[in-house]
Amino acid sequence: MIKIPLSESQKNKIENIYWDWICKYHIEKLIETIKNDKTMRELVLNGTKDLKAAIKKFLLSDYSELEIIKERIDKIRESNASLKKSTKDFLFARYVNYRNSQAAKIVNILGMTVCPYCNQNHINVVYEKENKVRFWGDLDHFYDKSTYPELVVCLYNMIPVCKVCNQLKSSQKGKLVNPYNCKVKSNIKFRTEFDEKVDLDYLQGKSQNFHITIDKYEATEEDLEEIKLFDLENRYKQLKQNAQEIIIKSRAYDSLYQNQLKKEFELDDEEIMSYIFGYTDNHLNRVLSKFNLDIMNEFINND
Ligand SMILES: [Zn+2]
Repeated sequence: MIKIPLSESQKNKIENIYWDWICKYHIEKLIETIKNDKTMRELVLNGTKDLKAAIKKFLLSDYSELEIIKERIDKIRESNASLKKSTKDFLFARYVNYRNSQAAKIVNILGMTVCPYCNQNHINVVYEKENKVRFWGDLDHFYDKSTYPELVVCLYNMIPVCKVCNQLKSSQKGKLVNPYNCKVKSNIKFRTEFDEKVDLDYLQGKSQNFHITIDKYEATEEDLEEIKLFDLENRYKQLKQNAQEIIIKSRAYDSLYQNQLKKEFELDDEEIMSYIFGYTDNHLNRVLSKFNLDIMNEFINND
């Protein structure tokens, strides 16, 4: 639902952290493991000769390269080839190590505190003494690790998410868009709707006789899959109180009042709206940011 935009500087930083970690602790064993596993060797080398450079390219594959590699793995599976158990064990152990030692640093640089799939739960990065950071969120393998163990430690295949979403996604294999792919827009949009009482008071913020729904008018196949997979409709249905508050605010903060606040706190137009209604630009560091924005747009446009 929420995309993870990467600036050039963020991209360089996270890739440097990741590759330093590989080079410092794992590269020799990694080269040896890949050399000795035919499936992995062919997949990583892909016609090139320099194994170390090929490993770097493979591990740092972006979302579109990952898709191509995934298709190659699907083809490999048709001939029943798979990884050696020792290769699998080695890669999975590197993943656990990455999670425990590197994930928090990466999430920190990405500036993410909220799950990109649901925008409801925090991804907890805990700061401890001596500048140590610990990662208490989950990492979702965009291409799941049991079907695609080859990709278990590829940087952009590991999406920082909340525990609920990770659990919901692990059991199902839907066609989703990788959150790192910012070229494909998400068209998921929350809105309110009359319930069976058809109570006009709700439009004034005076009742909770309405329900929350997701507008599917412009939703793509992938959006619909995401709504279903993460049970978004049910998970947002309960937020009537939040929606009612937004409706009241859209009436209470008229332009006169907004202008006063802007002057007093030296805020611009966008800042004042995001403070009143509780959203941030990319939604990745405020829970319910997307929901708050959508409901706000529904009601301020009706004025
Ligand atoms: Zn989530």
